[in-house]
Amino acid sequence: MSNSSLVDYVCLSPNFTGPRENKIDRITIHHMAGDLSVEVCGNIFIKPERKASSNYGVGSDGRVGMYVEEINRSWCSSSPENDHRAITIEVANDICGGEWHVGDVALEKTIELCVDICLRNDIPELVYTGDTTGNLTMHRWFSATLCPGPYLASKFPYIAEEVTRRLKLAREGK
Ligand SMILES: [Zn+2]
Repeated sequence: MSNSSLVDYVCLSPNFTGPRENKIDRITIHHMAGDLSVEVCGNIFIKPERKASSNYGVGSDGRVGMYVEEINRSWCSSSPENDHRAITIEVANDICGGEWHVGDVALEKTIELCVDICLRNDIPELVYTGDTTGNLTMHRWFSATLCPGPYLASKFPYIAEEVTRRLKLAREGK
C-alpha cells in the first residue's frame, strides 16, 4: 500500500489503529473547523491526548499534510467501521463559522488528492448518494457533529462527479 505523492509535509500521529482491517474503498472528507495550516493540524494530531487524526490534511494554501499512512486506520470519523475502509481528509476553512467556507485552492487540491487515492487503490469511481451506500462519506452521518459544514457538504456531489470524470480521463490515458 502506498501513500500520496502529493504530500508536502509529513507529521505522523500516534493516534491510529494499524494495519487497517479493510481494503480502502471510500473517502471521507472533513473540515478542520478552522483555517489551520497542515503544520498546525499536524501539531494537534501528534498529541496522544487528542485521540484524533486523519490520513491527510489540506491547507487553504493547497498544501497537503500526511498524518496517518494509508496502510493504517485514522481516528477521524467516530466510526471504526468507516475509518477502516476510508481515507480521511481534513480540509481547512478559509472562513470560520457560518457556512464554514472552503477556498477554491483547497477544494481543487482535495479533488486532486481524491483522484490520486482512487487511482492507487483501484477505486473505480467516487459516488455520492447522500448516505453510506455511496463511497464518499460525511462525518456527520456517524456522530453528532456539523462536520464537514454546510459549504463543503454542498460540494460533495460536485466533488464526486469531478473525481469520477478525471479518473475516467486518467484511465483512458488522456
Ligand atoms: Zn470530521
